[in-house]
Amino acid sequence: MSNIEITLPDGSKQSVAAGVTPIDIAKSISPRLADAALVAKVNGELYDLTRPLEKDATLEILTNKNPEALEVYRHSTAHLLAAAVLELYPETKLGIGPPIDNGFYYDFDRATPFTPEDLEKIEKKMWEIQQRNLPYERVLTKKDEGLQKYSDAWMKCELITERAGEVFSEYTLGPHFIDFCRGPHVPSTSKIKAFKLLSIAGAYWKGDEHNKQLQRIYGTAFFTPKDLEEHIKQVEEAKKRDHRKLGKELDLFSIQELAGPGLIFFHPKGGIIRKQLEDWMRDQYLERGYSLVYTPHVAKFDLWKTSGHAGFYAANMFTRMELDDAEYQLKPMNCPFHILIYADKQHSYRDLPVRLGELGTVYRYERSGTLNGLFRVRGFTQDDAHIFCRPDQVENEVVDCLQFAIDTLATYGFDKYTAEVSTWDGGVSGKYDGAPEQWEMAEQALRRATARLNIDAKVIPDEAAFYGPKIDVKLVDAIGRPWQLSTVQFDFTLPRRFNLEYIGEDNKPHQPVMVHRALYGSIERFFGILIEHYAGAFPVWLAPVQAIVLPITDKQNEYAHSLVRQLDAAGIRATIDERSEKVNFKIREAQLQKIPFMLVVGGREAENGQVSVRNRKHGDQGVKTVADTIATIRALIDSKAVTE
Ligand SMILES: [Zn+2]
Ligand SMILES: [Zn+2]
Repeated sequence: MSNIEITLPDGSKQSVAAGVTPIDIAKSISPRLADAALVAKVNGELYDLTRPLEKDATLEILTNKNPEALEVYRHSTAHLLAAAVLELYPETKLGIGPPIDNGFYYDFDRATPFTPEDLEKIEKKMWEIQQRNLPYERVLTKKDEGLQKYSDAWMKCELITERAGEVFSEYTLGPHFIDFCRGPHVPSTSKIKAFKLLSIAGAYWKGDEHNKQLQRIYGTAFFTPKDLEEHIKQVEEAKKRDHRKLGKELDLFSIQELAGPGLIFFHPKGGIIRKQLEDWMRDQYLERGYSLVYTPHVAKFDLWKTSGHAGFYAANMFTRMELDDAEYQLKPMNCPFHILIYADKQHSYRDLPVRLGELGTVYRYERSGTLNGLFRVRGFTQDDAHIFCRPDQVENEVVDCLQFAIDTLATYGFDKYTAEVSTWDGGVSGKYDGAPEQWEMAEQALRRATARLNIDAKVIPDEAAFYGPKIDVKLVDAIGRPWQLSTVQFDFTLPRRFNLEYIGEDNKPHQPVMVHRALYGSIERFFGILIEHYAGAFPVWLAPVQAIVLPITDKQNEYAHSLVRQLDAAGIRATIDERSEKVNFKIREAQLQKIPFMLVVGGREAENGQVSVRNRKHGDQGVKTVADTIATIRALIDSKAVTE
């Protein structure tokens, strides 16, 4: 038997017999490490702890300290789920069972729908199997044998046909479960300490609505029961804040079946909030040296050929329309339109930077199965701007964009955020467009800009778009969930495709640097994030109704109306509830509508020209004069306060 050399993370090397396994090496380092080990990383690739090492390699043993191990752990829990389902319902056929953010799912083909009671049964069975401490065993099968063996399991045959090499790996778990899987997994079921099944949903095979619909069981798994409990709490809280539920209850928006999926209708109350978001952003554009532009929703298909979208973006575009003179395309992006405006006249180096901003509505094809409320739609409006500048201006432009992004977050009360810089691979693969000097200039600008603003950005190599590096800003919402929001993205491709120029100091034409940037991202999606972040209780400046006047009896109706007129005149969005209901009932309803101020008026208030003020968060505020009440509300509006 020959020896191989294993390099450990601390740089030390061990000479061991070929065929040794990662768990053997973990044991030789320390029994504690072997006990905590979940999966190995061999030459950067995840490996089962029991898979033999045949060649020289670098080896890292991953434990529950490592996020990569959590994915393997969750995927292993998905196998545990499938094994339990097969023990209980042997007729079930298996689809796929990947880890996802915060958990995992498994797709099943079974004639009888799973019920919530079934989930409980399955979860119990999973714990039973967990107790048996079954190993996750890797089996190698030849492709033709596999296809024969699984002739009655249609999904498995499809996957093997499409993905398997001559020999493929399968994993068993107990006597009933075997599935086509690349692995790896944790060594045995006793490693899985905390999981919960969450829900059942329909899902098309391979996400394609022309395929058979399967039953998908979602679950979550964490390393410890405590982590699981915290997560479940967050999920419960998220359910209460679900923007689709609140959107209906607060009458903010809808999606209309007759109009089509993924297309958003803003109702009057949602519309007034949207107006605030748009007004704020447009005002900021003008204050920060952007020019406002407006561009069409369709353009000749030829434009998209020039921009390249007709090629690399084809799968995301709506189908073309045939008109008298040419084929037209609904716009999936605003960029080419802004480029046409830039290119419409000659620019001198002294005119730059040119910053063109638009709240531009775009249409993108998304599969119907992936659509989700306001978060994933087919038509949306971006706060989209494109900056055309000289190389020596790039760093300042990036600083301004990032500062703008941070100010945007602060305006809506997000005080936590993270940033990620996506860079290229140094040109090794050849998949990136643009010259090395351009990448160097842009990546340096991103590094310097983040340093100047003291932003601790994580650098992710080889994650850039093919046309340039970018920085993404992710906010953290009120219940700790991260959301990708703002992007500042370089583009080396479009200026070349459209032959963009400016005349330099040397009197010669030069290519400007182009930067795409969106801060809200999509207004629809940002609106959805805000609904959930505020749990529907919008800050006063955004609230569709800022104050509601509640007369105690009909006798105060006239006084109540005069109050509404005064509030109105002060620019406060006010309404009245003059139904013949008990005032406590009216207060409860106003509270459910999350109206910031309830102004209760009875006989005494009417006589003295006063109001009894209730705040949705702080309750009874006592009797106040009308002038004081108006001043309080106005101050909250004018300062765009995020708390009352
Ligand atoms: Zn697997
Ligand atoms: Zn763009």
